[in-house]
Amino acid sequence: MQSEVSSLEAVYLIWLSGAGCDGCTMAMLGSSEPGIEDLILGNVPDVPRVILVHPDLATESGDAFLANLEQAADGRLSPFVLVLEGAIADESRAGQGSFSRLGTSADGRPVTVADWVNRLAPQAEAVIAIGSCASWGGIPAADGNPTGAKGLEDYLGRDFRSRGGFSSSGLPVVNVPGCAPTGEGFIETLIYVFLHLAQLVPLDLDEERRPRWLYNHETYPLPPRVEYPPAVGFDLSNRPTVKCPVPVTGWLRNFGGCARVGGSCIGCTERDFADSYLALARPDPAF
Ligand code: SF4
Repeated sequence: MQSEVSSLEAVYLIWLSGAGCDGCTMAMLGSSEPGIEDLILGNVPDVPRVILVHPDLATESGDAFLANLEQAADGRLSPFVLVLEGAIADESRAGQGSFSRLGTSADGRPVTVADWVNRLAPQAEAVIAIGSCASWGGIPAADGNPTGAKGLEDYLGRDFRSRGGFSSSGLPVVNVPGCAPTGEGFIETLIYVFLHLAQLVPLDLDEERRPRWLYNHETYPLPPRVEYPPAVGFDLSNRPTVKCPVPVTGWLRNFGGCARVGGSCIGCTERDFADSYLALARPDPAF
């Protein structure tokens, strides 16, 4: 019997941008085999066609764009999967202004990203945090953060569950961390989420709600130009490891990827990486 989701013609992918750099959008656009274009064109077998509602990539703007979000929040545009890129700022710290704005309310107040998350997350079949900012605050939440920025799971609560689509139970926030994560990793996760909603595959998440099959390789935050795997003579005994697919998958189609090309591993896939791991990536004068 064909499942309900796989028999659907299309699923909306509603993308919100919080406090971040839009690098996750660029990473997503870089994915190939399949790319987001393949999903939009409905070229991936058994996966519904994606209708992308993205603030930077939409052909509509202003009220015409916001109408999509209003319809989704009111239950008139479904099914949809919500993706957040960037952290969520604590708007109560913004004084008379706001840290984010995506529209204006009837009384002239800014409609913030947090406002949209509040309205859209409960209606979504699944909620995905792309990048470390959306997953756990990332750089905007680093020590000294004046905006109170936090990740989506912290904002919605560890117990949050999406509608879960046509499966019997909802899903927690699915984290695809990295600064930025690989676009291919995100697209692969998205496809798994679709197939899971259709009850075709399990969705195996680790304790940090990352796709376990992607984030299962341990690597070391290291200064630049340390060979990967780590060179003989570099003492790793007291160094923490982080979980990341990039040393195995490369950045794109098995090319590139941080320490593989002489750069640092800054541990960007882990919670609090800016405070906990960046210092480990400082150049070592011995190398
Ligand atoms: S190798 Fe290190 S810096 Fe590169 S994506 Fe993975 S955790 Fe982040």
